[in-house]
Amino acid sequence: MPRLRSILSLILVLVTTLLVSCSSPQAAVPTTYAPEKVAQLQVYVQPIEEIRGRMSELQTLIAKKNWVDAGTLIHGPFGDLRKDMLALSRSLLPKDQKQATEVAKEVFSHFERLDAAARSRNSEVAEIQFREALKDFDAFLNLIPKAS
Ligand code: ZN
Repeated sequence: MPRLRSILSLILVLVTTLLVSCSSPQAAVPTTYAPEKVAQLQVYVQPIEEIRGRMSELQTLIAKKNWVDAGTLIHGPFGDLRKDMLALSRSLLPKDQKQATEVAKEVFSHFERLDAAARSRNSEVAEIQFREALKDFDAFLNLIPKAS
């Protein structure tokens, strides 16, 4: 049955071709930021950088042991930081998302401990948590691609 054999081999070729094309990566996950994406991220990062600019204000309040104003700053102007940082993390490339989310959560946990220290008027803990928050804050900002 030469005819059937050639049909079978033809089918085999088709199946093999199909399998190879299926196993090759289709729409590849992007690994670099397109210029439009970078521009969009600058808009998202702006309110976060504004808060970063006010960290020295918080530092002064801690140094002066002005716990009431320190607490007001954390709960007021700094209040949207969590939402803004997590939204920005989700806008990053998959390879950066997880790290950005983790670093953002670090920042909040330091702010929470700083807030608790402010309420119990513990300067030492407040200063340590402030420094840690600042370090993680900058680590977060370093993950965001900058417009060249
Ligand atoms: Zn930390």
